[in-house]
Amino acid sequence: MTIRTRVAPSPTGDPHVGTAYIALFNMAFARSQGGKFILRIEDTDQARSTPESEQQILNSLRWLGLDWDEGPDAGGPNGPYRQSERREIYADHARQLLDKGHAFHCFCSSERLDELRAEQMANKQTPGYDGHCLHLSKEEVAQKLAAGESHVVRMKVPVEGTCVVDDMLRGAIEIDWSQVDMQVLVKADGMPTYHLANVVDDHLMEITHVIRGEEWINSAPKHKLLYQYFGWEMPVLCHMPLLRNPDKSKLSKRKNPTSITYYRDAGYLPEALLNYLGRMGWSMPDEREKFTLDEMLEQFDISRVSLGGPIFDQEKLSWLNASWIRENLTVEQFADRLHGWLLNKDYMMKFLPFAKERVETLSDFAPMSAFMFSGLLDLSPEDFAHKKLEESEVKKVLQFTLWRLEQQRQWTKGNIFADIKALSKAMGHKLGDFNHPIFVAVAGTPNSWSVMDSMEILGPDMIRARLRHAVAVLGGLSKKEGKRLEKEFKVLSAE
Ligand code: GLU
Repeated sequence: MTIRTRVAPSPTGDPHVGTAYIALFNMAFARSQGGKFILRIEDTDQARSTPESEQQILNSLRWLGLDWDEGPDAGGPNGPYRQSERREIYADHARQLLDKGHAFHCFCSSERLDELRAEQMANKQTPGYDGHCLHLSKEEVAQKLAAGESHVVRMKVPVEGTCVVDDMLRGAIEIDWSQVDMQVLVKADGMPTYHLANVVDDHLMEITHVIRGEEWINSAPKHKLLYQYFGWEMPVLCHMPLLRNPDKSKLSKRKNPTSITYYRDAGYLPEALLNYLGRMGWSMPDEREKFTLDEMLEQFDISRVSLGGPIFDQEKLSWLNASWIRENLTVEQFADRLHGWLLNKDYMMKFLPFAKERVETLSDFAPMSAFMFSGLLDLSPEDFAHKKLEESEVKKVLQFTLWRLEQQRQWTKGNIFADIKALSKAMGHKLGDFNHPIFVAVAGTPNSWSVMDSMEILGPDMIRARLRHAVAVLGGLSKKEGKRLEKEFKVLSAE
C-alpha cells in the first residue's frame, strides 16, 4: 500500500503557522515511507474563502520549503483539488446517503433552531438538533421540496451508545453518541459542509492517513459513521497536539503573530522556522535541536510525537534563527539572504518616493526607513506621550484600531484610511490626535511619511503585530479591561 497523506487548509485568512506545522508532519510521514503528500483546498465556506488567501497559503508553504505531489497548482490524477470545483461529486454522494436512508431533509427555520438551542442551553443540555424533521413522511418531504422550501440535508446519528475511534497516537477514544449532533451535510445553498466534503475527498483521493490538529477529534465520530454509511474503509486517524502560546492557551493571533508572512517579513529564515515547527511535539532520536528538512525526513517516526501541548515561543524561535544565521550561512550567503528578503530595489521602490522628498543627504535614508525593515519596534511608553490624550486613551485608540483592522479583508491604503477615519470619528477624536499613536506604533515616531502608505506596504500581519506590541508596551490589557473594551468596541462598531 502506498501511503498517502494530505493537508487541507481552508483559504479564509492569513497563512497560519499551524497549517505549516500540520503540512510538515503529513509530508514527513508520507515521504519518510516512500508515500505521497497531497494539498487540497477546502473552500466550501464561500463567504469566507478568497483566492488571495489560497495563493498566500501556497506561497508561504513553498517559501518554507514544503512541496506536494498533487494539489491545485501541481495537478495530479485525483483532481480537482479545490472543493469548490467538486460540487457535483458531493451532491451525488449526498443523494446516495438520502437514498439509503442515512440522511434526511431538514426544513427547520433558523428561528426554530435558535429557540431550540436557547432552550437546551437553559436546561443545561448539550445543544443539538432534536430530530424534528426525521418524522416527516416521504410525501410531506416531496411536497415541501416541490414547493421549493429552503432545506438542508442532515446525517442520521445514533441516539444511544458510544462511538470508539482509534487514533494512532492516542489509542481508542470514546465519545458518546448523545454528544454528536445530526450534522448538516449539505447547506441551504447546496454547498456541502466540511464533514461531507472532507470524507468524500479523503476517500476519492485515496488518503490512507489523516494527520490533523486535535481540534478535529470531536468530528471523528461523524466521519467514522459517514465511512460506514458509504461502505468505505476509513483512513487511519492521527490527531496532532495543538500549538500553544507561552501561557498554554491555544496559539492565537490575539496573543502572538500566527501568520507565516509575519515571520518571513520579520526576518526569520524559512529553514529555521521549519526546523522550529519540526520541534513542536517531536524530537530527533538524538534530541538535537537543529536539523534540516532532509534530516527530519530521514529520521521521521511519528510515534515520537508527544501529546503535551507544544509551546510556540518566539524567543526560542529567534534563538534558533540566530543559530542558523551564524552557523549555516557564509557572509556571502548572508548578503544574498538580506537581498532576497527586503534589501532590494523592488521592495524599496514602494517607499522611495516618500523618502526622496524628505532626505537631505543619502545618509538620512537608513535611519529614516529603518522601520520598513524591522520586526517589532523598540518602543517605550514615553514614545506615546501625547498633548491631549491620556495614556489609557492612547491604549484604547491602538487596541480599537487593531480590532478594526483585524476585520479588514481588503488591505489597501484607501480602506485602512476609511477604517481609521471612521474610528476616530466614532471615538470623538480629531484625526491628527488619533493618528499620533498609530504613527508611533508603526514607524516608531510621529514624524514619518504617510502612515497609511507605510501600513499598506508593511502589510496586515506586520501592522497587527506592531499594534499589539504597542498595546503591550503601554502595559497590555488585563482580562477585565479587555472585556470592558471589547464591549465598548462592539457598541461603537454597531453605531
Ligand atoms: N479544512 C480543515 C482545516 O482547515 C481540514 C481539517 C482536516 O484536516 O480534516 O483545518
